[in-house]
Amino acid sequence: MLEIKNLHVQLEEEDKKILKGVDLTVEPGKVHAIMGPNGSGKSTLSYVLSGRDGYEVTEGTATLDGQDLLAMEPEERAAAGLFLAFQYPVEIPGVGNMTFLRTAVNAQRKARGQEEMSSTEFLKVIREKAKELQIDAEMLKRPVNVGFSGGEKKRNEILQMAMLEPRMCILDETDSGLDVDAMKLVSDGVNALRDEGRGFLVITHYQRLLNHIRPDVVHIMSNGRIVKTGGPELALEVEENGYADILGEAV
Ligand code: ADP
Ligand code: MG
Ligand code: MG
Repeated sequence: MLEIKNLHVQLEEEDKKILKGVDLTVEPGKVHAIMGPNGSGKSTLSYVLSGRDGYEVTEGTATLDGQDLLAMEPEERAAAGLFLAFQYPVEIPGVGNMTFLRTAVNAQRKARGQEEMSSTEFLKVIREKAKELQIDAEMLKRPVNVGFSGGEKKRNEILQMAMLEPRMCILDETDSGLDVDAMKLVSDGVNALRDEGRGFLVITHYQRLLNHIRPDVVHIMSNGRIVKTGGPELALEVEENGYADILGEAV
C-alpha cells in the first residue's frame, strides 16, 4: 500500500543530500518501525511523505495505493488516506477542538467524494472515540491545543487519527523524548487503531516504544538508507548492543 522506491532527497536551500535511496513497502495491516541514530534521515522521510516544503526529491517514487504521493498537495495526501501523526501540534486560539475536528473530517470526506457528517452523527462518533481514549468532554470544547499538557496533546493527536480513519499512519516520535505516560498513550492509541486494512510506520530513536507497540517489521536507517530489516528482535538488539554494533555489521 505505501511503496517507497529508491527515494533520494536533498535540501532545497543547500546542496545537501539527506536520503540516498530509501526502499520501503508497508503492507495493509502491518506495523513497520524505523529506528536509527540521530541525523540518519528518519524525520526527513516523514516530512517528505507529508509534503513539507524545503526538500527536493531528486530520484525515486512514493505511492499510496498506487497513487503518486509526491505529486499531491499535503491536503490531497490526507484525503488519499495518509496521516502524519502530530501534524497539527499547533495551538489554535479561538477555535474549539470539536469544531476543528469536524472541519477536518468533513474536508476529508468531501475530497473522498463522501457526504458530510451531520452534526448529530459527528457528535455521536466523537463522543464514542473520546470515551475510548479517556478524553473528557471538556477537552473537546477547549481551543485546539491551547494550554494542553503534553499528555493532552498526545491524546488529542490520537483522537485526530481515530476520527480521520487514515489508511496509512506515520508517527515520528522525535528524539525530544516521550515520557513513560506519553509513550503508553501513543502505543495504546496505535494498538487500538490496528486494523487489517491500515498500515503504520512508527519512527523512533528508542526501543522502549516498541515494547508496547510490537511492530511486525523493524528497519534500521543509517546515513539516508535503510541498511537492515528484520523482525521485532532487531529492536531488542539495538537496545542491548546500540547502533554501532548493528551498523558495523550492516555496512
Ligand atoms: P533523524 O530524524 O534521523 O534524526 P533528520 O531527518 O532530522 O534525522 O536529519 C537528517 C540530516 O539532515 C541531519 O544531518 C540534519 O541535520 C539534516 N537536515 C534535515 N533537515 C534539515 C534542514 N531543514 N536544514 C539543514 N539540515 C537539515
Ligand atoms: Mg534527529
Ligand atoms: Mg527525527
